[in-house]
Amino acid sequence: MANATTAQNGFLEHLRRDVLVVMQSLFNLDEDEHALLSEVKLGVLRSNATQRHGATRWQRQSDGSLDLQVVDLHPALLVVEWRAYALFVLFHEFLHVVGHRAHDATFRDLERRWPDQTAAQQGKAFTHARRLARARWHWVCPTCEQRYPRQRRGSGRYLCKACKTVLVDVPVKDIQ
Ligand SMILES: [Zn+2]
Ligand SMILES: [Zn+2]
Repeated sequence: MANATTAQNGFLEHLRRDVLVVMQSLFNLDEDEHALLSEVKLGVLRSNATQRHGATRWQRQSDGSLDLQVVDLHPALLVVEWRAYALFVLFHEFLHVVGHRAHDATFRDLERRWPDQTAAQQGKAFTHARRLARARWHWVCPTCEQRYPRQRRGSGRYLCKACKTVLVDVPVKDIQ
């Protein structure tokens, strides 16, 4: 977890408001759920995360119970271009907050009720964008020219997903 800036907090609060409106209409939230979602602290993940886009954190109390701490979103989601996906990620985390802890079949059913299913499918694109932004190497396929942006060398250990050729490391500084 990192500290959110004032601008990030403002963005997060607008997302919260919009997600709450949709969840209210989908699930007819009860008073407790509404209070929980209105009051949970929102924050940002460390910006070097690529695969993790949101997180709901709980802390175990001395009596063994779990206390809700914070819902974190990836800081790179807090821009206009990714806003639709950010709403979906916050919705996903809010399902955890109201008690659906596991990604089980029930959870996936609830998730599919999010009205913007196009945005719901943007996880891979966001991961790809994060990897591009952080990449120091491109693992390049000499056969089909597919590129895989990564922070580390592949050192001949990885195959092209498309054609199974061994990928070659090219430093990003040689590409730009
Ligand atoms: Zn989850
Ligand atoms: Zn290939």
